[in-house]
Amino acid sequence: MTFETFRSATVTLAFCLAMCAAQAQVAPSLPQPDDRYKADLLLVVAHPDDDVVIGGYLARIALDQHKRVAVVYCTRGDGGGNSAGFEAGAALGQLREIEARRALAGWGIENVWFLNGHDTPGQNVLRSLDSWNHGLALDEVIRIVRIARPEVILTWLPDPVVGENHEDHQASAVLAVEAFDAAGDPTRFPGQVSPPRDRTGMANLTEGLRPWQPKKLYFFSDAFEVFGPYWHDPAVKSPFRKAIIDGTGPTYRNTDISTSRHKSYAQLMAEQQTFYLTQEGEIGVKAVRSGSYAGFEDPMHLIPGKSLVGGSATGDVFEGVSQGPIDFARVRGYEAETRSGLSFEIGDPWRFYALFWKAHDLDGLAQLIPVPEATPDESGKLTLDFLACNGTADAAEIAIEPRLPAGWTERMAYSRYPVRPGECYPIQAQLAAPPAGESHWEELTWTAMAGAKPAGSVTVRVFAGKNGGLPQ
Ligand SMILES: [Zn+2]
Repeated sequence: MTFETFRSATVTLAFCLAMCAAQAQVAPSLPQPDDRYKADLLLVVAHPDDDVVIGGYLARIALDQHKRVAVVYCTRGDGGGNSAGFEAGAALGQLREIEARRALAGWGIENVWFLNGHDTPGQNVLRSLDSWNHGLALDEVIRIVRIARPEVILTWLPDPVVGENHEDHQASAVLAVEAFDAAGDPTRFPGQVSPPRDRTGMANLTEGLRPWQPKKLYFFSDAFEVFGPYWHDPAVKSPFRKAIIDGTGPTYRNTDISTSRHKSYAQLMAEQQTFYLTQEGEIGVKAVRSGSYAGFEDPMHLIPGKSLVGGSATGDVFEGVSQGPIDFARVRGYEAETRSGLSFEIGDPWRFYALFWKAHDLDGLAQLIPVPEATPDESGKLTLDFLACNGTADAAEIAIEPRLPAGWTERMAYSRYPVRPGECYPIQAQLAAPPAGESHWEELTWTAMAGAKPAGSVTVRVFAGKNGGLPQ
């Protein structure tokens, strides 16, 4: 045997030994997603105690249908006052996190996540999204969707309403919708779904989650006309349109008796509220003490957002839902707007929502509240934003004229606006409501003219009176 032949044989033998050993060893089976965190329904809300608004339904599915419920709170509720003690700000947020965990633990709901958004009282969803660092918050909600793999996501209605209309509620809804549409897409936050290189060691690099497409999306609302234990007032329903809940989606009676707890869901909801002593927990305490749950007995109404598995709009939330993954469903996304001629439009946050609903295939929401609605703040001030747009090839001057009911005053810095071709000029109107009387609805209209030519008009329905809204 020559040296060359010997070397070749040795290499062949070594190669064979290595290969034979590799062929004999079977890799361990791939770990599956951790089932302890699997959810049937993921609730995405803004504050500890938002869960009480939908508590009767949560109790029903968690206790009696044995559904696995998980919750994301986008803030710890570190704003607002403290009804139980002196703690405020971040300290109050720490207390409220525990209040929420205790309120839910009794129903077996333990997979509860808190994001780091600050409680931001106000009415403009875009400010909360900004203050929460929208991208970071979305990264976190999508991560939780991929961990919890919910069949259904339930969140606040992403639509400005007259009622509580807290901008944080709205922001949690926007994040939930975005996460519903993005968690199944491996190109969104891809580090979350890339396999870890060394899962048992330190060099794991990426997160090892799997993309997940939820199947159904539902909303609930804090509009005055929809029952909630805090701000429900059906007497102030808008005379201008039908109620947003009429025949819209499934309804669940809170007077039904829980088969496992032998109490009404209204009572369970009151008991849930007793944990929130730093907020309106006293309402629950009084109900439990007196044994009178009338304040919690109105039915729970849900508004359907979308379903990728069929089922009827008013059917049960889990109708058509079976376990296991479904394919990613791509939504339309933003499409460039084309404007021709001159136009006059409502500004943000209403304009944002019109674009957002279309982009996320939620076109049905545009019909719920077809004309923008607003509430002045506690001092009676109301600020509205408009856009005057020029889709022509020539410069234009657009004049804005308000038509206001008796007693209203308006302060606008200018009444005529120069608008270049292709440009939209943002315009702000600051209004003062008549001195507070009985709460009532009114229509306020602004018309736009370019010379003698009409350029459009905007109507806003305003709920004014003794119940002032959040700051703007
Ligand atoms: Zn809230």
